[in-house]
Amino acid sequence: MALPVNPPQPPRTLRSVADLLAAGLITPAEAPALENVAQHYATAIPPAFAKLIESPDDPIGRQVIPDAAEGHTDPTEDPDPIGDDALSPVPGIVHRYADRALLKPLLVCPLYCRFCFRREHVGPGGGVLDEAALETALDWLRTHPDIHEVVMTGGDPLMLSPRRMRAIMQALEGMEHIHTIRIHSRVPVADPDRLDEEMADALETTRSMWLVAHINHARELTPAARAAIRRVQARAIPVLGQSVLLRGVNDTPEALEALLRAQVAARIRPYYLHQLDPAPGTARFHVPIREGQRLLADLRGRVTGIAWPTYVLDIPGGHGKVPIGPDYLRTGPDGMLAAVAPDGTLHRLARERG
Ligand code: SF4
Repeated sequence: MALPVNPPQPPRTLRSVADLLAAGLITPAEAPALENVAQHYATAIPPAFAKLIESPDDPIGRQVIPDAAEGHTDPTEDPDPIGDDALSPVPGIVHRYADRALLKPLLVCPLYCRFCFRREHVGPGGGVLDEAALETALDWLRTHPDIHEVVMTGGDPLMLSPRRMRAIMQALEGMEHIHTIRIHSRVPVADPDRLDEEMADALETTRSMWLVAHINHARELTPAARAAIRRVQARAIPVLGQSVLLRGVNDTPEALEALLRAQVAARIRPYYLHQLDPAPGTARFHVPIREGQRLLADLRGRVTGIAWPTYVLDIPGGHGKVPIGPDYLRTGPDGMLAAVAPDGTLHRLARERG
């Protein structure tokens, strides 16, 4: 008689130190320190993302495998680096700029980025706004007619069920002053099958809808990720890309160029390249601003303008986002401006006083 055989189990999201050990992504010697890190910060590596990891310290692994260095908070780091908490009038809303507000319906993500600026808040325990809290957040939007754009973020809004997403879209459509809805998400690359036809249908709205996909390395744009993005684009929803400049991930001219070109090839317009926010335990990812400017300057003249993101800094303390170059203007000794050409040569602008 044949012995019963356990059917193969589908791969599942890696969430614990034991899962990481079993997957060969950490060594037994690393485990005790990582148990300490796990007390503070969530881990999740969904199968689609785990498959991309060739070695734990490669550009994919670095983003999601916890590291003992996360246990050390540098004096320059801050648990709320961009000052969300002070700008939150009700749970789930952040109001920093006059014409737009963040709506954070949940604090759950498909994976947990080791460099996340909201790492003190996001995690499976962070949960979802319950019906009453979501209604309070929507009421706040209803009663603020100066808000024209709602930026849905989190956590990751595409972790909502399609039913709940549809309900939020309908509520926002009921507010005449809301013209634009933006969804920021890591799901298209982290767990692309989740962005299925039903979810893509749920995003359809009469408002100007934009999806901003968070992508940090060209390898994240797998065929499955591109298919998920096409499902959104097929509904006339433009897709923008945002990336964080990260040491060991995309901090070489080659890696950055490949990332930007891969986005354009997938019809994604690179929108922002973020300077890393100084969240606790993230120093290993820091790339100095001057180095970031040089990296971008290296692409000028070589890479199509469609691929150029705006390099931005969220000023610590909640003072807002500003573009940080590179700057192509210099003031000459005669007080006139000169422009720096892509080859580095300076050209005096006869009409422009500095
Ligand atoms: S998906 Fe976004 S919010 Fe979630 S951990 Fe990554 S950076 Fe943070």
